[in-house]
Amino acid sequence: MRIVVTGGAGFIGSAVVRHLIQVCDTHVLVIDKLTYAGNLASLSAVAHTSQFNFIRADICETERVLNALVQFRPQAILHLAAESHVDRSINGAADFVQTNIVGTFSLLEAARRYRATLDADAADAFRFVHVSTDEVYGSLSNEGLFTEESSYDPSSPYSASKAASDHLAFAWHRTYGLPVIVTNCSNNYGAFQYPEKLIPLMILNAVQGRALPIYGNGSNVRDWLHVDDHARALGLIAAHGRPGARYNVGGRNERSNLQVVNQICAIMDELMPMAAPHSRLIRFVEDRPGHDARYAIDAFKLEHELGWQAQEDFESGLYKTVKWFMDNPWWWGPLSERFEPPLPRRVGQFV
Ligand code: NAD
Repeated sequence: MRIVVTGGAGFIGSAVVRHLIQVCDTHVLVIDKLTYAGNLASLSAVAHTSQFNFIRADICETERVLNALVQFRPQAILHLAAESHVDRSINGAADFVQTNIVGTFSLLEAARRYRATLDADAADAFRFVHVSTDEVYGSLSNEGLFTEESSYDPSSPYSASKAASDHLAFAWHRTYGLPVIVTNCSNNYGAFQYPEKLIPLMILNAVQGRALPIYGNGSNVRDWLHVDDHARALGLIAAHGRPGARYNVGGRNERSNLQVVNQICAIMDELMPMAAPHSRLIRFVEDRPGHDARYAIDAFKLEHELGWQAQEDFESGLYKTVKWFMDNPWWWGPLSERFEPPLPRRVGQFV
């Protein structure tokens, strides 16, 4: 297969590209603007292969993207390019509106025009997979799970911009017949995640003996999925997903933020013993405005329709992730020079 991956130099995108090339023997074209979150070092395992292709472009550049599609002739587009960090969206939403909404519109247009150049069979087989988040559904109370039928109720500028892009994607399916599939996934973790997100931020702060800032009282619950399980799901959906369908992706791993940080501390105590436990570094900081209480995903449809199952258990996945960050300062060390900390998490930034 030939697949275009937008945002392929980001955290999830790079895992998807490694999976497509190393496991599925796919030819991949990465289209990425290389913002602060894009890093070609995350692709070093596959960048030397003949299946790997890259252009640095903004998805808002419709004509450039269209030309790249016409030349590469993909059978599918996996669209992951986005501004992805909630705290940054609270500090300034303009880039989120531009990339997540205008950029998705631009890419849908490029895909629609590209598909019009294909013969009937190829146009029929073409897929546009729009990768989105469970945050579009808003917040859950203590009970229940998000299903594909849950209504939209986004809280942050980030989730609102993703919600808008989901609606655009489905509109291009219904109005223009573009074979769009939308996925809504829970929180991802794993290697190569930019150290502004909870898990890498806590690991790297702990490695450096810095404070571990937790919003509010740490009771907010997230449903965690290992990034390699997400990458497998997206490969499967690109190959076998139904046009016009939505698939929720999640690992059934609900944890409060405090539980996750305590678990990281326990792993650090084992891997890097100190005189006092790492949990002494925990600091509770002013809560994020509009902070959703709980997310939890029901992935039944994906599991039963496409036979996908999350393989990585959260405890072992977190252990491997902590170890990966400790063993790979070559990857995260250079980022500390260009890392711009988002404002709300004021204590103990990774700098
Ligand atoms: P990321 O921030 O790590 O990577 C985003 C990538 O997109 C970067 O490589 C960046 O350079 C690129 N990019 C940004 N703006 C661009 C533009 N205008 N043109 C081209 N490239 C651009 O994000 P991530 O965590 O890997 O998330 C990828 C996708 O998955 C996003 O759409 C996000 O909403 C979604 N998602 C993420 C999570 C999660 O837990 N991280 C969960 C569910 C869904």
